[in-house]
Amino acid sequence: MEDPSSSKLSQSSRRLEGKVAIITGGASGLGASTARLFIQYGAIVVIADIQDDLGHSLCETILESHKDSNPTISYIHCDVTREDDVPNLIDSTLSKHGKLDIMFNNAGIPGKCYNTDLIEVDGEDFKRVMEVNLYGAFLGAKHAARAMIAKNTRGSIIFTASLSSVMAGEGISHAYTASKHAVLGLVRNLCVELGQYGIRVNCISPYAVASPMLTNELNLEMKRVEEKAYEAGNLKEVVLRAEDVAEAVVYLASEEAKYVSGLNLIIDGGYSTTNPVFP
Ligand code: NAD
Repeated sequence: MEDPSSSKLSQSSRRLEGKVAIITGGASGLGASTARLFIQYGAIVVIADIQDDLGHSLCETILESHKDSNPTISYIHCDVTREDDVPNLIDSTLSKHGKLDIMFNNAGIPGKCYNTDLIEVDGEDFKRVMEVNLYGAFLGAKHAARAMIAKNTRGSIIFTASLSSVMAGEGISHAYTASKHAVLGLVRNLCVELGQYGIRVNCISPYAVASPMLTNELNLEMKRVEEKAYEAGNLKEVVLRAEDVAEAVVYLASEEAKYVSGLNLIIDGGYSTTNPVFP
């Protein structure tokens, strides 16, 4: 008799086979790493972003490096804060691929950090962060759910929150922390509503990820970030590699997580459970 675990093992390398996935903010950082991994696991991927050159060249690179398996990946311009862009993203995915299984609401911006004195905070910057991180995520979920319900798809909606969804941080903008706390609230409310359709709603909450957001916007050198990057056996002061965080997204997107909904999956090497009183 065949060992059931052996067939499970062979399936796991193509665990997203045939699933149609949209990744917002997919041209860079965590979104780009997730796109690579989704393709590797057999998904059909639509990358949505506002960095068009980067998005197109990522598609070309992925197609080139997987030319034996001839994967399906495309790029579409979509500003997640625009009422017309988001339904267009969903509808064009439906007309091209017939369904939507996975919506990864990942696009996000940090706002102005390291000068976060409340009195000095620029209201326009605050509003823009809320608009991208919260309203953009809401729009993505709304139109993805519309498509999933219409097609009777037991889909998976995943958000990129942050450790800032449960903790404050020095040097992190007030808007960023507020927006990510709000994303978690959205996940919980949507999970309650969408469960009746078999749609799962979850988020990941990573600590610092080595990505352009961390290096450019927070003014850190990639070299310094990489030096701090996760080494097996040392989880202290961890900086996460985007490709490792993307594995958590794959899990939430896959059948293996079929009973998982409403989860805030914290990925921080134990940072948030450490008592800071004892250095
Ligand atoms: P990144 O800057 O590399 O990627 C963010 C992507 O979002 C970019 O490609 C950008 O063009 C896109 N984007 C920004 N505004 C957009 C808009 N209006 N419409 C569509 N796309 C837009 O940064 P990243 O670290 O990969 O960030 C991805 C997510 O991870 C964000 O939600 C971020 O808040 C979250 N996050 C990052 C870290 C970190 O330390 N880098 C930690 C925790 C959570």
